[in-house]
Amino acid sequence: RSRRRWGRAVEVLREFEEGCSPSVGRLRQVVDAMAVEMNAGLASDGGSKLKMLLTFIDRLPDGTEAGTYYALDLGGTNFRLLRVQLGGIQSLILSHEVKSQPIPQHLMTGKAEDLFDFIATALKAFVDEVDEEFEDKTDVRMQLGFTFSFHVRQTSVSSGILIRWTNGFSVEDAVGKDVTQLLERAMRRSGLNMRVAALVNDTVGLLALGHYHDGDTVAAVVIGTGTNACYIERTEAIIKSQGLLTNSGFMVVNIEWGNFWSAHLPRTAYDTALDEDSPNPNDQGFEKMISGMYLGEIVRRVLYRIAQESDIFENSAHCLAVPFILRTPLMAAMHEDDSPDLREVGRILQENLDMPEVPLKGKKVVVRVCDIVTRRAAKLVAAGIVGILKKMGRDGSDGIGNSRSVISMEGGLFASYKLFREYLNEGVVEILGEEAAQYLVLRGFEDGSGLGAALLAACFPIL
Ligand code: ADP
Repeated sequence: RSRRRWGRAVEVLREFEEGCSPSVGRLRQVVDAMAVEMNAGLASDGGSKLKMLLTFIDRLPDGTEAGTYYALDLGGTNFRLLRVQLGGIQSLILSHEVKSQPIPQHLMTGKAEDLFDFIATALKAFVDEVDEEFEDKTDVRMQLGFTFSFHVRQTSVSSGILIRWTNGFSVEDAVGKDVTQLLERAMRRSGLNMRVAALVNDTVGLLALGHYHDGDTVAAVVIGTGTNACYIERTEAIIKSQGLLTNSGFMVVNIEWGNFWSAHLPRTAYDTALDEDSPNPNDQGFEKMISGMYLGEIVRRVLYRIAQESDIFENSAHCLAVPFILRTPLMAAMHEDDSPDLREVGRILQENLDMPEVPLKGKKVVVRVCDIVTRRAAKLVAAGIVGILKKMGRDGSDGIGNSRSVISMEGGLFASYKLFREYLNEGVVEILGEEAAQYLVLRGFEDGSGLGAALLAACFPIL
């Protein structure tokens, strides 16, 4: 009997693996779909699940920026304050101070004025602390890059209307208002002589930092708790805003790629169920297959099913019924356990999931499920990136040779999950081939969105 039950575990596993299979053919279809959807989103508002948002950023830092700039990064439960001193030549950052501070829970769901007063007061304290060296600062207007990672309809480089909060924020009287105005008013109340020079999404900040260091940088991808990407587009290709003119002829477009959807995505019953149980069903379909918020949860769902259908976890699987109990960093730690007896897997199962004494073959199944989920995620990210290059005519498929393309990368998955990074690189090579893949460089950054916002303040100062 026990053999048959083990056989059932193997069957569930095999079925899941087949459903997830990121074959090269499948990945290339995803590449094409990404490029097609990007086009559709540029053609008309609502023309695609990809919003393809205008950013009004029509130039990017090139390494010659000089002076002192500030940035404020608000997007999660912590906000970050930065001051950057730029050397003016060769992408030289003379110094950079960062301070991270939590937002008190009650302010995340209270009144706009209270939230922004809190932020402005913290910013004032930060400025006073780091700027002790120059005393006669009062009449110099300071320039701020504001990274605001919520849904905003941008009205210029430095202003935008808040459409919707996410990530646990719901400050209702801020919705429909200009975020920059809210912050600038609060800064005035705090006695801070500072202007918001650039209001940007975190991916746009990351792109700016990448471009500051390397002029071949054409796109930026964040893969942390959530995921998003932006890239440089020719204004004439932005059909939905006909007559849009910029001096450079280009504008950075925020793809909002987490909402990408295609029938070619290798989706399983576990993904469908996860989506149905989520607070935003039918939304963020791509994100739900690739980002840190969800990878551990997909693994949990598969393991739970295996626990129900077989006895390989020996009746100790009650914790596996609890949604989101398996966080992605723990999943990564199990996946990367290379000890012969999978000691780390055993420890995590025991300590975090109350599953003591899982036999070795059960632990191997756990590792296998982690591997399938992460391999699919990373290869889909590879397909998404190549899709952006294809949209830009930079994937080498036009037969006129290759140009070097650099993508700025940031986020917990890319930074901390080695096997994710390895599968991502493997995916790029599979899709493009060894030769063309050499022209694509994925470059990781830390603090990219904040630093980049300060650089954009340097590019678009308010005089
Ligand atoms: P943000 O929450 O702003 O996206 P990060 O970019 O730092 O912040 O990403 C954090 C996310 O990255 C976590 O929610 C988690 O899902 C994932 N993560 C963090 N550390 C690891 C790790 N060691 N392995 C895999 N994923 C990780």
